[in-house]
Amino acid sequence: MNVELFNHGLQVLGDTAASQQLEQFKVYAQLLVEWNQKMNLTAITDADGIAQKHFLDSILPLYYVDIPQGARVADIGTGAGFPGLPVKIMRPDLSLTLMDALNKRITFLKTVVAAIGVDDVLCIHGRAEEFGKKKEFREQYDFVLSRAVANLRVLCEYCLPFIKVGGRFIALKADGVDEEVNAARPMIGTLGGKLEKVIDAPLPGTEIVRKLVVIKKEKSTPPQFPRRPNKIQ
Ligand code: SAM
Repeated sequence: MNVELFNHGLQVLGDTAASQQLEQFKVYAQLLVEWNQKMNLTAITDADGIAQKHFLDSILPLYYVDIPQGARVADIGTGAGFPGLPVKIMRPDLSLTLMDALNKRITFLKTVVAAIGVDDVLCIHGRAEEFGKKKEFREQYDFVLSRAVANLRVLCEYCLPFIKVGGRFIALKADGVDEEVNAARPMIGTLGGKLEKVIDAPLPGTEIVRKLVVIKKEKSTPPQFPRRPNKIQ
């Protein structure tokens, strides 16, 4: 990864990383590139892309939404760990669950977690629709993050069941989010959520503006949600 670009991006966000954190990002990037030769993890493998479109993009929510010390955070459909794992590197105090439906990605994530030495990270192989019904996971999280998994309506049915009443869902979205938000509005309410705001978060060093959709969980999600995959679609 391009450390200079990453550091410059952090500076724009008003932050810095300690040498140990930079080392963790470097090892993560190396493993990402290595494992990507054997399995499909990501299309972005160049040093600049990893620094900006994976690492800086993933941590943007930290600079726009207050996530209290020690909060329980889940990343649903995390793939190669985005956005959850970069967030955990920058905020080691958080308790993190990474979930993905593809086991090979979970195997990769367990390897990265062991190699960079972060603790309190749970890597779960499973589908959101199934785990959102389990007692140990349902309404247990202060925050859920998710990037590039499904349209907002479907994504809310995957993610809102995991969130405690009073907690928040942050969806990392792109341009065109207004239509998605309008289409998702009725379902957000049905699931016990309330749209709080859509934040424009410029990605440092690029022309890209990330849209952060913040949904607050105001009421418990009714027990019939999440529904079966074919119903959700
Ligand atoms: N969030 C990562 C990122 O931004 O790089 C990965 C995005 S990738 C396009 C979508 C990921 O979501 C895949 O790894 C896929 O296995 C996972 N996924 C899709 N539907 C899921 C579900 N219902 N439950 C859990 N994971 C799911």
